[in-house]
Amino acid sequence: MKVYNTLSRKKEEFVPLEEGKVSMYVCGPTVYNLIHIGNARPMIVFDTVRRYMEHKGYEVNYVSNFTDVDDKIIKKANEEGTDASVISERYIAECKKDMEALNVKPATTHPKATCEIDGMIDMINTLIDKGHAYAAEDGTVYFKTRSFAEYGKLSHKNLDDLRSGERSLLVSGEDQKHDPLDFVLWKPKKEGEPFWTAPWCEGRPGWHIECSVMSKKYLGDEIDIHAGGEDLIFPHHENEIAQSEAANGKPFAKYWMHNGFLNIDNKKMSKSLGNFFTVRDISEKYDLQVLRFFMLSAHYRSPLNFSAELMEAAKNGLDRIVTSVSNLNFLMESADEREMSETEAQLITEAKGFVDKFDEAMDDDFNTADAVSAIFELVKFANTHADAASGRAFLQALKEEIVMLSDICGLIVERKQEMLDEEIEVLIQERQEARKAKNFARADEIRNILTDKGIILEDTREGVKWKRA
Ligand code: AMP
Ligand code: ZN
Repeated sequence: MKVYNTLSRKKEEFVPLEEGKVSMYVCGPTVYNLIHIGNARPMIVFDTVRRYMEHKGYEVNYVSNFTDVDDKIIKKANEEGTDASVISERYIAECKKDMEALNVKPATTHPKATCEIDGMIDMINTLIDKGHAYAAEDGTVYFKTRSFAEYGKLSHKNLDDLRSGERSLLVSGEDQKHDPLDFVLWKPKKEGEPFWTAPWCEGRPGWHIECSVMSKKYLGDEIDIHAGGEDLIFPHHENEIAQSEAANGKPFAKYWMHNGFLNIDNKKMSKSLGNFFTVRDISEKYDLQVLRFFMLSAHYRSPLNFSAELMEAAKNGLDRIVTSVSNLNFLMESADEREMSETEAQLITEAKGFVDKFDEAMDDDFNTADAVSAIFELVKFANTHADAASGRAFLQALKEEIVMLSDICGLIVERKQEMLDEEIEVLIQERQEARKAKNFARADEIRNILTDKGIILEDTREGVKWKRA
């Protein structure tokens, strides 16, 4: 499996630090509003990376933060006359709803910056002790950028070029930096802002330190993959590297992955231009699976243009897969129960060729555009070869391949039919009777039927209880 590493600007063979395991940190949203479709791109893209790795057998520890202390959150809280935490909790809940609708798996851990302040203070202390940071008179703590010799290695920037670009800061007189390149680790509180007690002053952290700290706490000093949108390469990720490597004395992330930007009508999507859509806006017109499919139809590193025509094309593309699966289901209802014929077995071997094509595309730096094409080819193949004369086993095998590949992309192409309460009760009753009659095979079979339909059974002392997953 090859992964493009922003650090080396090359595709590299993926070799995890620990065999069979992947540790992955994805910078999450600042929660002051409903997420927009640009924020959804890294969520969908890196969820797909995770799903593919899990499919390959890796155990993935996936951490994605919520930035819940920030100027924009505080501004919104002041406008509404409430606490910053009320705003951030509201939009974390809304973000989780959008993620679920996009079929983005919850992270193994979703840490919040405000719950990790002690860790941030510890890391800042370490940086001061090691001579990489200093506190100014007003209590602001700065990272001494020039003390980290490799600064600029991710964004491929040269410190002296940066310095000439930042000249305006030198004359601003607004801060007490020793060098205009130094960046904030901790800043003093201002009127109306949340604050925490720290050795330097009452205040709050700068933005970059949270990710270094959360990544270390939940994944360790060295991790496999660190990811986010390409706008984060500089300064956010460059600063994270400086903080983590200076504090821990070890390389931070082995692979740095960045998604390209989502534009609207070929223009940069921006709140100030008013040309942005929230995920919620899109959900009014489309099933969010269509948005997910649209995002995966391009390579994750390419810029992607959002337009009504492209969304319609995505809708049609997804429909083709869904229709093929429902057609296979329909044929299966009346299909012969016989074993696969030789010809059918041969066709399934041929169909696996499309699965190999899918894997090849994904192994090449997660080329979802080509992977989706392989699904289309498989669908076309299924549509050509499945008919009323096909056996059930053959139809089932074809369907399983399509559903498996779609599932790796996080695309739901088969809606489980909702079961009515009465149907569930009847099956539970039958299961009880089967158990009494010691017919455990039938009892297990019924449990499996219910699990497939998303019904969870719980055997309690008062009897069997059930709920929908
Ligand atoms: P933010 O809330 O601005 O920190 O963004 C959260 C994540 O969304 C980061 O990984 C950003 O890089 C990413 N992001 C923001 N806008 C876009 C966009 N228009 N296209 C792609 N990714 C974006
Ligand atoms: Zn981050």
